[in-house]
Amino acid sequence: MAAMDNLCDIVIFGGHGDLSFRKLIPALYHLSNGGYLSVLSRVIVVARKEMGREEHLALVREKLIEFLGFDQFDETKFLHFAQQLHIVAVNFDDEHSYRDLKELLDLHPQRERINYLSTAPDFFTIISFMLSRLDLITPHSRVVLEKPIGRDLYSARAINIEVLNYFEENQIYRIDHYLGKDTVQNIMALRFSNRFFMPLWDANNIDHVQITVSESVGVEGRWGYYDQYGAMRDMIQNHLMQLLCLVAMEPPCSLDADSVRDEKVKVLRSLRPMSPADIERHTVRAQYAAGSINGGPVPGYREGEGMQESNTETFAALRVDIDNWRWNGVPFYLRSGKRMRRQYSEIVIQFKGIPHSIFANKGSCISQNKLVISLQPKESIQLKLMNKIPGLSDQMRLQQVDLELNAPLNSARKPDAYERLLLDVIRSNPTLFMRLDEVEAAWKWADVILQGWSENLVPMKSYTAGSEGPSASIQLVAQDGESWHDE
Ligand code: NAP
Repeated sequence: MAAMDNLCDIVIFGGHGDLSFRKLIPALYHLSNGGYLSVLSRVIVVARKEMGREEHLALVREKLIEFLGFDQFDETKFLHFAQQLHIVAVNFDDEHSYRDLKELLDLHPQRERINYLSTAPDFFTIISFMLSRLDLITPHSRVVLEKPIGRDLYSARAINIEVLNYFEENQIYRIDHYLGKDTVQNIMALRFSNRFFMPLWDANNIDHVQITVSESVGVEGRWGYYDQYGAMRDMIQNHLMQLLCLVAMEPPCSLDADSVRDEKVKVLRSLRPMSPADIERHTVRAQYAAGSINGGPVPGYREGEGMQESNTETFAALRVDIDNWRWNGVPFYLRSGKRMRRQYSEIVIQFKGIPHSIFANKGSCISQNKLVISLQPKESIQLKLMNKIPGLSDQMRLQQVDLELNAPLNSARKPDAYERLLLDVIRSNPTLFMRLDEVEAAWKWADVILQGWSENLVPMKSYTAGSEGPSASIQLVAQDGESWHDE
């Protein structure tokens, strides 16, 4: 049980939205019941619709059961959590509608105050403005911004400048929920607490790196949002770039927020800007066509209900180069797509082969060592090593074995990434959140590719729903003599 001193008010704008019900409220339920939130803390759900307390609690209960599952839901724990829940109706654009929220917050003006903007980015400015106008921003306030922060450098800057009119940079928590996953944080533990990896983590020893985020789901009723963004803006520019930074960054001088984020920014600034020729050769974009997932037919991206003509990619793959001493000549291959055969995310560090094999002529094939970091569906780390097959054969026969590097779980339940990140906001620890210059550096690099795509430097390919993506993605790595790690 944790300390009971995390006393705060957490205000969720967009509190009846999908993210809030799916992730934020379940995370707060667990934090509250785990003792990570003071019993006096309040969770203030801001919804557009007027709703009585009983009706609201019934809705939250129903959604908790839906998203936690019956095995995780506990009636007694819910009743405990319900005491902390409040609901207020606010229309973001209407100053008068903030009256009840103000009344509630003004009861505890000195309290730590977390404003979670679980809304489209179009509302970040107006909500911040209203909070400021109503004197609801104090030195103890923080604001959490959900992705996407803009759709290019220009719009990201505009959002940041607007929000910075009301909050200081150290009060702004730009969330990327991938950074809340234990296995993602474990990349730092693995790299910076094991001497074993230290001399191996560079261009002398690593052949290439692959980062894959593959989703079998489609746009799930969010076509209006997704079609404005696509795989590059929705996944690569943020989640995959953050993973790349953790793999590629230099050791920070400490674990404090700015030391870690300084090193990540250096990686982003070292990304080789793509020339038009690089965009043609090193990027792939594609849209899924009708196919089948888990044996059932699914329509193509442009064929579903409410969908229309679109030039938005649902799949992107790229070869990225990092121009610095450590990574000179080491390709980082990134890919992400919707309606793929499998739902999984992983990072594969492919080491170089041994300089000379004494086994090659004896019928043994030596596979290059790989470190496979799986982020979902299960979180695990495997080191693929060669080992002798036991036995009396006169030939030394080898096989690849997996060394599992997973930390033993000391609790039955693994906390969700949002639990970790919300707790970090409560504790004022911004290490796992993106700083302004990180967001901007990632957009600066991605904008060049998006511009090239808008000029049709790369044709839009097609892939069958339920496949591994377009064949152009296989060619992307094959032209360097590589293949995707697909197991
Ligand atoms: P959503 O389901 O559309 O929720 C947004 C909420 O904002 C809705 O409940 C909506 O109220 C409310 N709202 C909209 N306009 C309003 C207004 N003028 N006044 C008051 N309330 C208003 O969206 P979401 O999926 O939760 O996503 C929220 C943000 O998180 C988005 O930026 C999204 O990109 C990001 N995100 C979402 C997920 C996810 O899994 N859903 C994952 C990562 C990031 P009504 O219900 O009355 O319309």
